[in-house]
Amino acid sequence: MKQSYSPNKTRLREPVVPRQKFPPGKVFILVERCKGCQFCVEFCPKQVLTLSPRFNAKGYHYPVVENPDLCVNCQLCYYLCPELAIYVVSNNNNHTIQK
Ligand code: SF4
Ligand code: SF4
Repeated sequence: MKQSYSPNKTRLREPVVPRQKFPPGKVFILVERCKGCQFCVEFCPKQVLTLSPRFNAKGYHYPVVENPDLCVNCQLCYYLCPELAIYVVSNNNNHTIQK
């Protein structure tokens, strides 16, 4: 007799690769390069960034990381920033430092 699938009785297999316990990306902001356009704040799909009430030396409000755990490392903020003032480093340690 054919067995039917029953999610309550069947123990599902554990994932082979353990889930990450840290966000995929870490955001860095070069405050003094920022011109306060807010592209990065407005278009971040995860609302990671917010605008600081403080000013940089040029007199612009700059972004700060409000929700670091939500960053998905999509790099959108990096590609949108016209001043190259923000970048994201992957938290996956799949690279090695060459000497
Ligand atoms: S990498 Fe993506 S999710 Fe992370 S801060 Fe930039 S736009 Fe937001
Ligand atoms: S996109 Fe660049 S210049 Fe614009 S607010 Fe963000 S960091 Fe500043």
